[in-house]
Amino acid sequence: MSQKYDCLVIGAGFAGAVTARELAERGGKNVLVLERRSHVGGNAYDRLDDAGVLIHQYGPHIFHTNSQRAYDYLSRFTAWRDYQHRVVANVHGTMMPVPFNLTSLELAYGPEKAARLEKKLVETYGAEKKVTILELRRSDDPEIKALADYVYENVFVHYTMKQWGQTPEEIDPNTTARVPVFLSRDDRYFQDTWQGIPAEGYTPVFDHMLDHPNITVELGVDASDRLSLDVSGLSLDGEPFTGAVVYTGAVDELFGCCFGRLPYRTLDFKFETHPVEWFQPRGTVNYTVSEDYTRITEFKYFSGQDLPDRTTIVKEYSRAYTGAAEETPYYAIINEANNALYAKYRALADALPDFHLLGRLAEYKYYNMDAIVVRALELADRLLG
Ligand code: FAD
Repeated sequence: MSQKYDCLVIGAGFAGAVTARELAERGGKNVLVLERRSHVGGNAYDRLDDAGVLIHQYGPHIFHTNSQRAYDYLSRFTAWRDYQHRVVANVHGTMMPVPFNLTSLELAYGPEKAARLEKKLVETYGAEKKVTILELRRSDDPEIKALADYVYENVFVHYTMKQWGQTPEEIDPNTTARVPVFLSRDDRYFQDTWQGIPAEGYTPVFDHMLDHPNITVELGVDASDRLSLDVSGLSLDGEPFTGAVVYTGAVDELFGCCFGRLPYRTLDFKFETHPVEWFQPRGTVNYTVSEDYTRITEFKYFSGQDLPDRTTIVKEYSRAYTGAAEETPYYAIINEANNALYAKYRALADALPDFHLLGRLAEYKYYNMDAIVVRALELADRLLG
């Protein structure tokens, strides 16, 4: 093969970085990675801010998984700082653990009524169980039904309206039905086997992963400026390219949004540094009945940095994505119409030779980091036979 690279990977987030590493290391391929931003890491990118706090530029990221493969793989590139994520909802000034649990029950109803309800709930559904509000609503007991309404109103509905820009009528009943009440005093947000934050932060994980003699990374390069697509073949910098292409960017952009834009929610982040040791009692506080932001996250909980006189927080504001260059599409809005639109783009991509869509943007799906790592490893398995 006369071309310089065997494989082309577009995007240096988890999808692109893991695939590039595997193709280079396991497959011995020469891999070119093109990344539009000025840094690697995709949305998991972190950096020190002016106050010296390690912030997550594109929103708070906590690694959690039950996948041995994802955990073992990333552990090749990082040690871990043990961190168990805890989230509370600010309900009219009271900080209630979410998912709503037995501690939240006590805070909502007071000790006496909570103890009575707890007994009923545990007798009916079992201790340490996650019960959905749909199941609670099916109960004949008016107190249990009322609990479902309490959780819906104080923890779920306003938060979801802010997050997705919906009215209560527009919220998918299936989503509402899945809202859990956790009959436990375990106030961790995730119960996964492995949870933590890379000991040096996320960006060094990507630096290590992409540091391989067979990998070339070019930053600040939009693939659309270098790659042309044609069913008869692809070209890179005007020369025919016959190797595998792994594309992790937005699939509609790849085809000039010819069928219209795929809808997304975007986020505006407002970072603030405060001259106090701690701003709030937990890593994340959700504002479920007040404020126009959805949540506040305080980064020192993640990094464990010892900075007694300052702390940095971020407030998240959710709104519709317009496609403007300075915006990031964060959350795909999954519904029938959007899935059908995605299928049209997918068909165009599938017609291209040795062209593979991977990741949250290319697949128009929400994936946690561990899921993307596993998917990238599986794609590499297939490509390398
Ligand atoms: P991305 O990280 O988005 O990477 C794609 C990369 O491709 C980007 O760097 C982009 O610049 C680049 N790119 C796109 N188009 C082009 C182009 N044309 N040319 C060149 N480069 C291009 N997951 C968890 O497990 N735990 C969490 O706590 C968590 N929190 C999250 C919080 C928020 C606010 C969000 C939005 C997501 C969160 N996630 C979390 C999910 C996590 O961000 C994703 O799993 C992960 O980013 C997926 O990696 P990716 O490579 O598919 O996409």
